[in-house]
Amino acid sequence: MSSENPRVSAFQSAVETKKLPLNKLVDKNSEQFSKDTAISEYFGCMTFGLSQMREKLPKEDYNHLLKTLDHGKKLPKETADAIALAIKEWSVTKGVTHFCHWFQPMTGTTAEKHDAFISIQHAHHSELKVIEKFTGSQLIQGEPDASSFPSGGMRSTFEARGYTAWDPSSPLFIVEEAYGRTLCIPTVFFGYHGQALDNKTPLLRSLEALSNSACEFLKLIGDVDVKKVQTTLGVEQEYFLVDKRLVALRPDLIMTGRTLIGSAAARGQQLEDHYFGSIPSRVKQYMQEVEFELYKLGVPVKTRHNEVAPSQFELAPIFEDLNIASDHNLLTMEVLKRTALKHELVCLLHEKPFAGVNGSGKHNNWSMANDKGENLLEPGTTPHQNLRFLACLAITLKAVHDHAAALRASIASPGNDHRLGANEAPPAIISAFLGSLLEDILNTIESGKTLKATDQQIIDLGVNKIPNVSKDYTDRNRTSPFAFTGNKFEFRAVGSSQNSAVPMAFLNAAVTASFKECSERLRELLKNKGRDEALMDLIRQIVKETKNIRFSGNGYSDEWKAEAKKRGLPILKNTPEALAVYKDKKAMQFLIDTRVFSAEELHSRHHIAVERYVKTLEIECITLLELAETYVVPALEKQIKITGDIDKLISAKTTIKAYDKRFKELDLIYGKVLTEIEEFQTLLTKSQAIQDEEKRMVNIAQSVIPASVKLRDACDLAEKVVADELWPLPKYREILLASSLS
Ligand code: ADP
Ligand code: MG
Repeated sequence: MSSENPRVSAFQSAVETKKLPLNKLVDKNSEQFSKDTAISEYFGCMTFGLSQMREKLPKEDYNHLLKTLDHGKKLPKETADAIALAIKEWSVTKGVTHFCHWFQPMTGTTAEKHDAFISIQHAHHSELKVIEKFTGSQLIQGEPDASSFPSGGMRSTFEARGYTAWDPSSPLFIVEEAYGRTLCIPTVFFGYHGQALDNKTPLLRSLEALSNSACEFLKLIGDVDVKKVQTTLGVEQEYFLVDKRLVALRPDLIMTGRTLIGSAAARGQQLEDHYFGSIPSRVKQYMQEVEFELYKLGVPVKTRHNEVAPSQFELAPIFEDLNIASDHNLLTMEVLKRTALKHELVCLLHEKPFAGVNGSGKHNNWSMANDKGENLLEPGTTPHQNLRFLACLAITLKAVHDHAAALRASIASPGNDHRLGANEAPPAIISAFLGSLLEDILNTIESGKTLKATDQQIIDLGVNKIPNVSKDYTDRNRTSPFAFTGNKFEFRAVGSSQNSAVPMAFLNAAVTASFKECSERLRELLKNKGRDEALMDLIRQIVKETKNIRFSGNGYSDEWKAEAKKRGLPILKNTPEALAVYKDKKAMQFLIDTRVFSAEELHSRHHIAVERYVKTLEIECITLLELAETYVVPALEKQIKITGDIDKLISAKTTIKAYDKRFKELDLIYGKVLTEIEEFQTLLTKSQAIQDEEKRMVNIAQSVIPASVKLRDACDLAEKVVADELWPLPKYREILLASSLS
């Protein structure tokens, strides 16, 4: 069928897409890596981190760098210059022409400003001689024009300066584009008075705070030689892949990253055949290239699979040091998006691109390890290790219990509002899941009884009996937002498009506060008791006090909502409610006490989040109106005209009756769309007149969004009655299934 509807030809091109050959990396030294090369041979070849520095730097300079890393010592200028020289030499051999300070402004994504490596050596009359040059100060500090990044009022325009400073704990990396390569230097971004203007600075502070408070506690319980506690993270990342040509015909996907109208396809995810099903070949090829790119960047991606919804997929790396893992997740999102375009695809990282099928999230697998590399959340082989495990488990539970509202606020975003609380993602109520065996153990500890020897292996702690819990005992509960999975916690309520650094900084701060309080309490208990007994007492107290936060049932159920209310847990069902927590001094004080944020920084983050909510929603609203008025209404009018014309052609009684019914239905839907447009427009205009941003945010959530849902429903009814040929927007079935047809 030849068609004038661009939708139809876009779909045809989509399914006829030729597959791309796997990209080959050609190095300057003409080393070639391809899909046939073992990963270990090229893993990290585009990065310059500690191991490269150790190899390339004079020993003394390398030691200075380690001192900076371990003790925050200032880097001597000569060392900085030596490092810069090594970096430049390595970069030039890789064909790099530019460098940039790569930072994480509070917009939630990453930003970069490029500079060429060139410098003028000498100018003879008007003749310029250019050389490649890169100095220590260029490496260490930059000054991008910060005025257009949000500062939440922390910076008036007359002091619009912002600085970037090198974070030596995260490796430098090279980004390749078709026309050249750029060296990216991970940096923090801060204002003239040292206030954080980014998401990485608070994260780094939180890592240090956690390490210090955890070491203090561990020393008290007998691990006297512990020097550092490292926090670890592995992020499972979900995403959708849709054909670029179909996206190009959807103004909503282009403007907002999600579909604002669209009626459900007959086959969505109800057959449950997509999850872990075989990956369509076009997509597999895309994934292979993504992995190839990520390996070069030193990102240890490990798993790939289909997710629940059609066209939804997931990738997960091997866990790493949290700071690096968080940077790597940002890089992964970049590579996912960039590589998709090469394959005529668009990677949607929005939390809810399609109504009626699952949305996307991140699962942030989080744990802590001491400097011997022992995982503190892993049950061990000795009584001491098990006691330590229980203590760290209880301390983490206390962190979640005491700071649930703040943790909820840390994941609030318009996109995530579509997931949290819907029956597909963890609920908007923060709770923790432990699995039945650990539940039994904690309950027994709480009761003060000795655990009965069952067929579980029992370890005598001298104080109480605890089975030797092993890694594989945990049951699964996909409905829990914060689940213990054997040797780590999995924070599952993080949004797919979010920078992990934000919720992780909050979580680390909460755990820090918990460690601090527990150290104090343990010191008191130690005055009257032996160490193990005092520690067991502390664990018992904490287990009791935090019982409310533990929940093993179905987090999607209404019973849980009622139960959570009874327990007094914070129920913050959308972003406006969650952001209000920022104004609750008591709820946020731990972030200030642990020095992860200053009061001023929190204030500015609240301000930015409110502003972003309002802007995001208003863009969605305006786009929805445009779709309704310029796509849906004209399509309906054409259909009504065609249907109306038939009137004169029919004569059979039954036909007339059925026809009248059809025409009436069309008429009704047309009227519904028109009225809903008017209603929506009125409410939107009213809302836009509200000057106070916070009030506007609340108004949007309370009155504009419900009206937008009604308008969408009317438009979706229209899609069902208008001739396929006349419908201009790619339909769900096309968008969601095209990439699996080629
Ligand atoms: P599942 O969620 O199915 O249990 P995995 O066991 O593969 O999946 O783990 C999911 C993620 O958790 C992976 O990224 C993995 O590297 C990470 N992970 C495993 N152990 C730890 C740990 N100690 N700290 C942080 N992340 C971890
Ligand atoms: Mg998981």
